[in-house]
Amino acid sequence: SVTPRRQRVTVLGATGSIGVNTLDVIARHPDRYRVHALTAGRRREALLEQCLLHRPAVAVLAAEHDAAWLRDRLAAAGLGTEVRAGATALSEVAEAAEVDVVMAAIVGAAGLLPTLAAVRAGKRVLLANKEALVMSGALFMDAVERHGATLLPIDSEHNAIYQCLPPGRRGGLGEAGVEQLLLTASGGPFRGWTPEQLRAVTPEQACAHPNWSMGRKISVDSATLMNKGLELIEACWLFAAHPEQIQVVVHPQSVIHSMAAYSDGSVIAQLGNPDMRTPIAFGLAWPERIDAGVARLDLFEVARLDFEPPDEAAFPCLRLAREAMATGGTAPAVLNAANEVAVGAFLAGRLAFAAIGEVVEGVLATREVQPADELAMILDEDARAREDAAQRIAAQRPRR
Ligand code: NAD
Ligand code: MG
Repeated sequence: SVTPRRQRVTVLGATGSIGVNTLDVIARHPDRYRVHALTAGRRREALLEQCLLHRPAVAVLAAEHDAAWLRDRLAAAGLGTEVRAGATALSEVAEAAEVDVVMAAIVGAAGLLPTLAAVRAGKRVLLANKEALVMSGALFMDAVERHGATLLPIDSEHNAIYQCLPPGRRGGLGEAGVEQLLLTASGGPFRGWTPEQLRAVTPEQACAHPNWSMGRKISVDSATLMNKGLELIEACWLFAAHPEQIQVVVHPQSVIHSMAAYSDGSVIAQLGNPDMRTPIAFGLAWPERIDAGVARLDLFEVARLDFEPPDEAAFPCLRLAREAMATGGTAPAVLNAANEVAVGAFLAGRLAFAAIGEVVEGVLATREVQPADELAMILDEDARAREDAAQRIAAQRPRR
């Protein structure tokens, strides 16, 4: 038999939680994958380590002074890696002709342009960067279709749903006989807490997730349930679903990663240990399966699976996201931008935990909804929502 050429992979956001897990899976399969480019924002030491191990053709950092630092170190180590800086370089390593697979694992709106560049170049795109899809849903999915990209969800819930739907599915959920998507949620570190208890929450508490070890932004989103809200929007776009077709189910063990409920009464679930290497390996190897380094699920150890409805009164962000999706246009982009600014302020100790949702709600209420079929409009609304959120935060008195 002929040995297939190794797949060349660009990892956007290589130094983050998803990036590190991606490189862990890749390192287990040197016969199948080879790293083309690694990118990071500011963490140049971490990127240096990764470059020494994976020897990419290109490395990208946000700032030129960090790139110059890395260039010197890699040259001294005898590596031929080209080191670049800035947003244009990110898009170029995502669309480069020699690249087969792009892992989109930058956090937040900063990942939108390089992820879209990969889509427009028709790559296999492994989508972790949910904010990119939330901001630009219609435009993004249209580009996937038009440029023949292969979009595989890495978010564990969406990866689960993808696995629970019929392969090669085209069209809406109804055609596949699917009545409802059951999006599971761990409930975050503050499940069961009252609004009163939530007032004094610190960034350290919010970032200590019971089941998953993740970047700080998504950890806070998990604590507010905004993460589940963003995921609801993400699921609507990925699976051509209406918001009413998606039921959020709090499942504290995080063993069932999500489900699809069919018209004949069947409910199909995907289970596994909470380890992002499973969806990452799925995306890399699809339609084949490879070892991900994940321990096999021990159901006797799990022993029980619990389910409860989300508490939308204590965690308003889920409702805000559902409403933004129903409103459509630029509303999800505005929701995302205001949330990014509010989460940043909370992490910096400038905003109370409970005020994150208030800031998002205030910004959503003021911004007039625009059509979201052009990138310029989306980016413009993103920028204005950020300004509006920053002003609201500055006007608040710190409450802790
Ligand atoms: P992280 O904060 O750990 O890593 C983010 C990465 O993006 C880092 O490499 C960072 O250097 C880079 N980056 C940040 N800002 C940048 C900028 N302005 N320009 C260029 N690069 C920049 O985040 P994470 O937890 O790995 O999450 C990444 C994405 O994956 C997020 O969209 C998140 O919602 C999604 N996701 C993460 C998990 C998880 O388990 N961590 C699960 C599901 C989805
Ligand atoms: Mg998720």
